[in-house]
Amino acid sequence: MESKLPDVGTTIFTVMSQLANECDAINLSQGFPSFDPDPWLLDRVTHYLNSGANQYAPMSGAPSLRAAIAGKVAAVYERQVSVEHEITVTPGATEALFCAIMATVRTGDEVIVLDPAYDSYDPATTLAGGRTIHVPLQVDGDGEFSPDWEALEDAINERTRLIILNFPHNPSGAILSADNLDTLATLVRDRDIYLLADEVYEHIVFDGNDHQSLLRHDELWERSFVVSSFGKTVHATGWKIGYCVAPAELSTEFRKVHQFNCFAVVTPMQLALADFMTDKPEHYQKLPDFYENLRDHFAGLLGGSKWRLRPARSTFFQIADYSDISDEKDTDIAMRLTREIGVATIPVSVFCEAPSDRRLLRFCFAKDEATLATAAERLRSL
Ligand code: PMP
Ligand code: GLN
Repeated sequence: MESKLPDVGTTIFTVMSQLANECDAINLSQGFPSFDPDPWLLDRVTHYLNSGANQYAPMSGAPSLRAAIAGKVAAVYERQVSVEHEITVTPGATEALFCAIMATVRTGDEVIVLDPAYDSYDPATTLAGGRTIHVPLQVDGDGEFSPDWEALEDAINERTRLIILNFPHNPSGAILSADNLDTLATLVRDRDIYLLADEVYEHIVFDGNDHQSLLRHDELWERSFVVSSFGKTVHATGWKIGYCVAPAELSTEFRKVHQFNCFAVVTPMQLALADFMTDKPEHYQKLPDFYENLRDHFAGLLGGSKWRLRPARSTFFQIADYSDISDEKDTDIAMRLTREIGVATIPVSVFCEAPSDRRLLRFCFAKDEATLATAAERLRSL
């Protein structure tokens, strides 16, 4: 069969998690927490499972969950969105990203992504008939990643249909400032360009910073699909529930794809999440401190070692430079460390189109302290 995605192999997350399992390694590669969701939330799921909530939910999502999402968007980002027309619940952020790309991109259109870029954007663009243009983030002397606005401006032309932004950024933890949103607005003003904001780590931002959602910005909001995921927020990546918030006209087109791609999302979890958001907002409010402690704990464990840690301002990932340990390619050392010392990581180069001489691995620190301590002991032995 002639492949529609000839350059695409198995995603790095599957490759590394499989290897970690085979080697019985500590898996700091694929991003998932080692802890369970709040027992209160699990009780609500059990409740709904046992009270008949086992048939199709509405195509756009359970009304109570959409209302809860609208409430949060109003409380956190000061935007009033329509429960009926502007929120769609999806099976994870991945499907929302796919639907937004399918709804906007036509043959020959260009889609700009910022490298390192999450690995689902490019194949989805190809399937929509578009071409992905990779604009690298810039890296300063402290190893901090940030958007290169000039390079982004240079990449924009009349074929540009969509710009995909992922802040808080996986894997670098880079975040946007309010000024950055204004800059972005000047770049897209008077152009037929949509924005797809992958904000799955919206509630995991550290050091007292606020997440600058595109939902906050009047001008950008009008052309934006803003995507999030409960997987990150409630420690339930396996539930695969996310959502897309977009103005009514954009949501209409989004739903045309979503309804024939998945139609509706698992009912009892949606109802339980609605209750959790409404009754326990303190959960997401406490998330920054929770993960900031783990970030600092992990950084402390590796302090004074040959691993040079890059600034980690958000998400549950820590990038480390291993140039003082080895000059291997990151893909090679990631495999070797999994096999030889039993710690699995993600090589950062897989998220980049252009080869770079950077030597960076990504660690997921969403693990209990004992697991991180054992992993760090192994890493320090190098
Ligand atoms: N975007 C980014 C940046 C991610 O890191 C992830 C997964 N962790 C996703 C999208 C996909 O989220 P989901 O598992 O909800 O599909
Ligand atoms: N988003 C997760 C990560 O970055 C993995 C998602 C997946 O396995 N598809 O590690």
